[in-house]
Amino acid sequence: MANQLVEEVKSRRTFAIISHPDAGKTTLTEKLLLFGGAIRDAGTVKGKKTGKFATSDWMEIEKQRGISVTSSVMQFQYNDFRINILDTPGHQDFSEDTYRTLMAVDSAVMIIDSAKGIEEQTLKLFKVCRMRGIPIFTFINKLDRQGREPLELLEEIEEVLDIETYPMNWPIGMGKEFYGIYDRHYHRIELFRTDLEHRFLTLDQNGEVMEDHPIKQTSLYSQALEEVLLLDEAGDEFSVEKLNEGKMTPVFFGSALTAFGVQTFLDTYLQFAPPPQPRNSDQGEIDPASKGFSGFIFKIQANMNPAHRDRIAFLRICSGEFERGMSVTLSRTGKQFKLTQSTQFLADDRSTVNRAVSGDIIGIYDTGTYQIGDTIAEGKKIIQYEKLPQFTPELFAKVTAKNVMKQKSFHKGIHQLVQEGAVQLFKTYRMEDYILGAVGQLQFDVFVHRMKNEYNSDVIMESMGSKIARWLDSEEVDEGLSSQRSLLVKDRFDNPVFLFENEFALRWFTDKNPSVPLKDPMEIQ
Ligand code: GDP
Repeated sequence: MANQLVEEVKSRRTFAIISHPDAGKTTLTEKLLLFGGAIRDAGTVKGKKTGKFATSDWMEIEKQRGISVTSSVMQFQYNDFRINILDTPGHQDFSEDTYRTLMAVDSAVMIIDSAKGIEEQTLKLFKVCRMRGIPIFTFINKLDRQGREPLELLEEIEEVLDIETYPMNWPIGMGKEFYGIYDRHYHRIELFRTDLEHRFLTLDQNGEVMEDHPIKQTSLYSQALEEVLLLDEAGDEFSVEKLNEGKMTPVFFGSALTAFGVQTFLDTYLQFAPPPQPRNSDQGEIDPASKGFSGFIFKIQANMNPAHRDRIAFLRICSGEFERGMSVTLSRTGKQFKLTQSTQFLADDRSTVNRAVSGDIIGIYDTGTYQIGDTIAEGKKIIQYEKLPQFTPELFAKVTAKNVMKQKSFHKGIHQLVQEGAVQLFKTYRMEDYILGAVGQLQFDVFVHRMKNEYNSDVIMESMGSKIARWLDSEEVDEGLSSQRSLLVKDRFDNPVFLFENEFALRWFTDKNPSVPLKDPMEIQ
């Protein structure tokens, strides 16, 4: 039995795809699901585009936006692997949840549009992965279109992200003249636009195509050979150790839309991506294959059914195996209860899960029991996994109750929603005005909606726009430093925070006040 668990855990690969909107995350996800046989037709992942998920079950905001709850986690089988892909919502749905999801994965796949290079959202998500030191695999997409020079893209990744790159394969041409990829890992050429039988050409010891093939006469082939030679001689050597520490990213080229290079990517990814790793807790490191179920909650999706006000808490299993109906303890409260209503997520439906192991994600019905970061463990065991970091909010708004007579429900609502991690709360020093902070606008929309629906409190949100928040590495602060452009506020634990109007205001402040210890935004808590 114990051996079976070890094997099962080893087969798990749990990852998220990080990218800027439109780089091809949905398209790649669909192609991966197709290989796994989890969906029959591509185009079922994003409800927005097909309307397939336009059922009545979601909260109003989600309906308006057409976000599919069921696509939050996708699980499928591919060869001997059980794969969990966690969605990282982008566009207007970018929120703290997007970051928190990255706390629950063991590796990440970064998609880059070959015409655009590193974009803003990719950079933000990359930084969170970097902070965790997890392996990051890069897929440079849309090679069927004219894009930037591959060497230039590699340079940009290395410079902007400060990570070594190792191209697993190399494109032969691009756009209209895209012939395929030179696969350094499998030592073959994979041809674009050809029938499957002749998809691969083998390479000889010199790294050249063995058989007589027209591609050999082309200048793009010669150019690719030269570039690969250059990479062999002058590039970094592939290092699994560096990959595991997040210091080197293997780079793949392909075209998600035409499913080109996707299977090769998946096969290589599965070979090198780590299975679930031990996690730190207050009881020391916990081995994923150790007996005794435990896991932590990284996301709470509220009000999927407005009639029932229910929520789903997303739990990442970190050890042992989950069985429906099992008895567990919530370490924060010490309360013991049974996990009866649990859900597993697939691309096309939600289904009840009876059993899952480390690496898997399950959804648990929540009637207000859980908070983000909570640990639950089997039986009477009390374990607390490492606290989830608090992410730096970027958008701020003043909030007040519309009806001054209803202060009680206003305060109750705010404090509960803040505790749940829906938004962050700040207060000004003198007046104690409430300011809310969020990573994305969606968090504010959800907040307003839930205040009204769950706490019967209409709120007025007065946008303060985007700010750069910097916590202080000290409890002492001179209130005189507060100004319109560098507003001093307190977080909910009374820690001082400056909200800077922009980069310029931040720089001006640090130049003027070099002794004020501002913390690095990635080192909060
Ligand atoms: P997401 O916002 O990252 O999920 O991006 P999507 O997967 O929705 O893709 C954005 C757009 O790029 C869509 O119109 C896709 O059809 C297109 N696209 C995605 N992958 C490719 C590709 O490999 N080649 C080309 N030409 N277009 C692509």
